[in-house]
Amino acid sequence: MAHTRVLIIGSGPAGLTAAIYAARAQLSPIVIEGEPSSTTDQPGGQLMITTEVENFPGFPEGVQGPELMGRMREQAVRFGANLQMTKVVRLDTSVRPFHAWVREDGDTPSITADTVIVATGARSLMLGVPGEERLMSKGLSTCATCDGFFFRGQDIAVIGGGDSAVEEALFLTRFANTVTLVHRRDQLRASKIMADRALSNDKIKFAWNTKVTEILGDDKVSGLRVEDTVTGSTRELAVTGVFVAIGHVPNTDVVANQVQLHENGYVATGPGTYTSVDGVFAAGDIQDHHYRQAITSAASGCMAAIDAERWLEARGM
Ligand code: NAP
Repeated sequence: MAHTRVLIIGSGPAGLTAAIYAARAQLSPIVIEGEPSSTTDQPGGQLMITTEVENFPGFPEGVQGPELMGRMREQAVRFGANLQMTKVVRLDTSVRPFHAWVREDGDTPSITADTVIVATGARSLMLGVPGEERLMSKGLSTCATCDGFFFRGQDIAVIGGGDSAVEEALFLTRFANTVTLVHRRDQLRASKIMADRALSNDKIKFAWNTKVTEILGDDKVSGLRVEDTVTGSTRELAVTGVFVAIGHVPNTDVVANQVQLHENGYVATGPGTYTSVDGVFAAGDIQDHHYRQAITSAASGCMAAIDAERWLEARGM
């Protein structure tokens, strides 16, 4: 069993920035990075499935999401953070030091920790319509960066009207013949600059006031059944690829019954990154449903490391 002064769960911008700060404060943090998922072969959070990041300060030419995460990881390792590519399956914050189990949920914890920084982020929301589970990875995806290449020359659809949907649609025009943005309202939620780019792109068509009721196809996506939200009429849209980009839910599995959550499921923090459990801090998208940017996430990771450091110092630990 390992003991650490700071256990960081998660390896997105929040977790890795917390790791850089905690390591530089000589706290020898352990970072449980997570595991490869169905959408990425590396942990590192949502930026691993993002293409160009144009708004992270210090990169005037933009930077690819995976490259940015690779650089943060390298920086954390350089200062001595102990990164482990595994997953926390259970956390007990009712005992001191806190107990965490990775992989096996037996009697003996894998790690004990004086403080915990939870930075497990958020994941894609799904539509919950028939065909979705069955056709996942069979023409249905939540990650244009990962799967866009497979849809060269095809007619495909992106569901949603926010920045995620527009970003996915724009990226997919590199490969697809046409991209239909299917949105349940008659105007985009996306920021003006992104919306303007989509609206002026010849390859992007818009299905306004349109709700997806079913994803069609036997063992491969062949279309969408959609309903007009104004008239109630239904029709089929012939597409061979579908990307769902309708927002995210926080990954609170490990902490859900321990720290206080807001009604919307995000971890309640404040002051700073303090959670309702003394010594447990939360950073990044798990506690932020409003800004959700790499830079704000990284900033709250920094705050969490400083909060943890001062918390330890105040207790002579
Ligand atoms: P979002 O802003 O919450 O937008 C979600 C979109 O999906 C909305 O248009 C919503 O429709 C639609 N939607 C939600 N549930 C749906 C359902 N069940 N069926 C059909 N449509 C549904 O989420 P997001 O686009 O992921 O963006 C989240 C945050 O990250 C935002 O602050 C955004 O600015 C930021 N972001 C920024 C960038 C960038 O700057 N490059 C890229 C991605 C995300 P309604 O409009 O009707 O609610």
